[in-house]
Amino acid sequence: MKVLVIGGGAREHALCRSLSLDPDVTALHCAPGNAGIAEVATLHQVDVLDGDAVAALAAEVGAGLVVVGPEAPLVAGVADTVRAHGVAVFGPSAEAARLEGSKAFAKEVMAAAGVPTARSYVCVDDAEVDAALDAFGPPYVVKDDGLAAGKGVVVTDDVEAARAHARQCASVVIEEFLDGPEVSLFAVTDGEHVVPLQPAQDFKRAHDGDEGPNTGGMGAYSPLPWADPKLVDEIEQTVLQPTVDELRRRGTPFSGLLYAGLAITSRGVRVIEFNARFGDPETQAVLARLRTPLGGLLHASATGTLAGFPPLRWHDGAAVTVVVAAHAYPGTPRTGDPVEGLDEVLAEDGPKAYVLHAGTRRDADGRTVSAGGRVLSVTATGADLAKARARAYAAVARVRLDGSHHRTDIAEWAAADAAERAAAEPDS
Ligand code: AMP
Repeated sequence: MKVLVIGGGAREHALCRSLSLDPDVTALHCAPGNAGIAEVATLHQVDVLDGDAVAALAAEVGAGLVVVGPEAPLVAGVADTVRAHGVAVFGPSAEAARLEGSKAFAKEVMAAAGVPTARSYVCVDDAEVDAALDAFGPPYVVKDDGLAAGKGVVVTDDVEAARAHARQCASVVIEEFLDGPEVSLFAVTDGEHVVPLQPAQDFKRAHDGDEGPNTGGMGAYSPLPWADPKLVDEIEQTVLQPTVDELRRRGTPFSGLLYAGLAITSRGVRVIEFNARFGDPETQAVLARLRTPLGGLLHASATGTLAGFPPLRWHDGAAVTVVVAAHAYPGTPRTGDPVEGLDEVLAEDGPKAYVLHAGTRRDADGRTVSAGGRVLSVTATGADLAKARARAYAAVARVRLDGSHHRTDIAEWAAADAAERAAAEPDS
């Protein structure tokens, strides 16, 4: 099977890396890709928002499967167009991708499907905004209804800041604050059957201790040693399957990757948001441990043949991803800085730690230079979270990127908590 991956971040590098390890994947192409993806796939330049152009590229390279990574092409209907050209696509239709593209639509689907989520109001004017803020009280949660690359949500105790954000949104959702830890759970679905992956946690704030502005994500780990072992089954039954059933019932089945962002509150699991694609950086940590060949799994989703798919197999242990971000990210990042030390990671830490590229490119001299806000996702596996974490940070220390920053506390609490639990076990 020849596969074409659309996208060029660390998520797509993780997808390409896993696909390249699948013995049934005979050729791998990516558009637009990045300097790291170029090592495992043939890169192509194409307008990824133009479905006809993507379909033409798929035909040119003989792709039997197109995997759409980011949300923008999905919401633009690229999967529909490519599918209409008779090529199998991993990724939902534009109609089903509204689950991510419109928070108001997601709320409506959840209400119809009986899926637990925060109570909310969709507001059309200042008076409705004020009434909703009053009704819930602080902390205020104000969301832009449209796509905002993970940065459209403001959570604040300051009512003026909440009002100011609401005024900037064309359409705004105001909702009840959810307490408790957050979990990301991905599921592969063919519109009918649901195959959950292992859960992960990501870190959205720019700085240690969850300080600073929101980002696309500064790190992740998987699995979650602190979580109830039945959590995934519970989420499958109360969230994923009912949502997939509801969209099928409406005649707009969701196939592809259904990503549930959840809060584990004192009153039970609640959906914070859905996404219609793999999450970045959780994908990097989750796929690091997946043993089941990825190409076969995504192809089964794309062709509606997930029924009876063998149970997923996983490597033991844990995985940790640390994002190395450019100077000033998530503000205007500085680009064009040389990225050095990558060979040392390969020599000293590989294959248990490796560098996935996000915003990188080759300059005229063939050097790898930064080309975006999140530059690298350094990912490592280990027998437990503490070992994976130590390996990830050892690799981060070898990477040199002028002015870069990263969080030093990814998976720190969870690793310490897991070690305490292990020490408390009677036979350890
Ligand atoms: P979203 O784009 O909906 O995932 O929101 C981004 C982040 O805002 C989430 O990961 C949460 O940390 C936070 N957030 C969103 N909704 C809520 C909520 N109802 N209560 C508390 N935090 C929230």
